[in-house]
Amino acid sequence: MKYDFTDRERELGRVVLALTLNRQKMTERVIVGRSTEVSLRFERGIGEVYYDETRPLGSLLIGLEADPERKWNANTAILRESYGKVFPFEAQRWMLAAPVADYLAQKYERGEPSALFAAIRTWEEYLNCFNLNRGADLLTERLAALYRPFVLYAENRPWQELAPAAMSAALRDTDTEVSLWYPAKKRPFEVVAAFSSLLPVIQYYLFKLNEWGCVFQQCKICGKDFVAKSRHYELCGDECRRVQAALNKREFDGRAKGDKLEQLHENAYNYWYNRLRKLKKRKTADPERAAAVDAAFKEYRKEAVRRKTAVKNGEMSFSDFATWLAEQQNAVDALIGKVSPNLD
Ligand SMILES: [Zn+2]
Repeated sequence: MKYDFTDRERELGRVVLALTLNRQKMTERVIVGRSTEVSLRFERGIGEVYYDETRPLGSLLIGLEADPERKWNANTAILRESYGKVFPFEAQRWMLAAPVADYLAQKYERGEPSALFAAIRTWEEYLNCFNLNRGADLLTERLAALYRPFVLYAENRPWQELAPAAMSAALRDTDTEVSLWYPAKKRPFEVVAAFSSLLPVIQYYLFKLNEWGCVFQQCKICGKDFVAKSRHYELCGDECRRVQAALNKREFDGRAKGDKLEQLHENAYNYWYNRLRKLKKRKTADPERAAAVDAAFKEYRKEAVRRKTAVKNGEMSFSDFATWLAEQQNAVDALIGKVSPNLD
């Protein structure tokens, strides 16, 4: 069901934002609608509502509307003005309020539940206070309470140290109204519903997360904030878990390859070294040949390191390197010459 911001009369019943948390599934469900419809939705899955989504735990807190420039509050002045003025034609009064209605409709369309709720409540309060005595003052007071968390949110994210204190300090008597429902008789499941302010719902939410030992984490892949069961969880969801798994595999493959490269290099070195040692230990000394192999070995070592680095940098293939090492082993064999066993 869609809310109509051109309505000039409001329907019966209060619009609420109702929240229920599922600790086991680590989800939240938020429903925005008139209270009787919302409770029907919770109890029997029916009822016409404006918003009904189940999302990962913490989504409402993390995505809550933030209004550093106080744009929401700026609307209040326009709405007030439309009350006070005397217009030759009634339609002009509504024309004055039209930009605000557009602003609210835009916020509504974005689908962020806290903003969607505030948009509806704004229009409802506007219609509510229309014909009331001191209606403009009442409207200002109510909307200020409604937008307060948005301003606070711009200054402190809810998991920052100062936030809970700032939120408590901001709570006024008028904001504290909140109701708890237990709609399903079969299992204990609790719904908290906000009317005039979201602050008590935010506090309830933070309290529950704290009670359950949940923490706010930042995903190390995508950087998004999320709520986790403990500090042990570093990834926000399945998508990022897949990315991490692929990265882990690549890193492992790279490491394994690196190990293999070093192994091959070392084996070849040992081959040369042992051949040379044996040559020098021969009973029939051949200093000239030993000096030649010594020089070739020095040359080989330099070149082997250069090529190994090239493989690491991706400038040479691993198999080319292995082939080259094998060729060098043949070269040292040729240099030393066929040795009859009784000479060794
Ligand atoms: Zn992520």
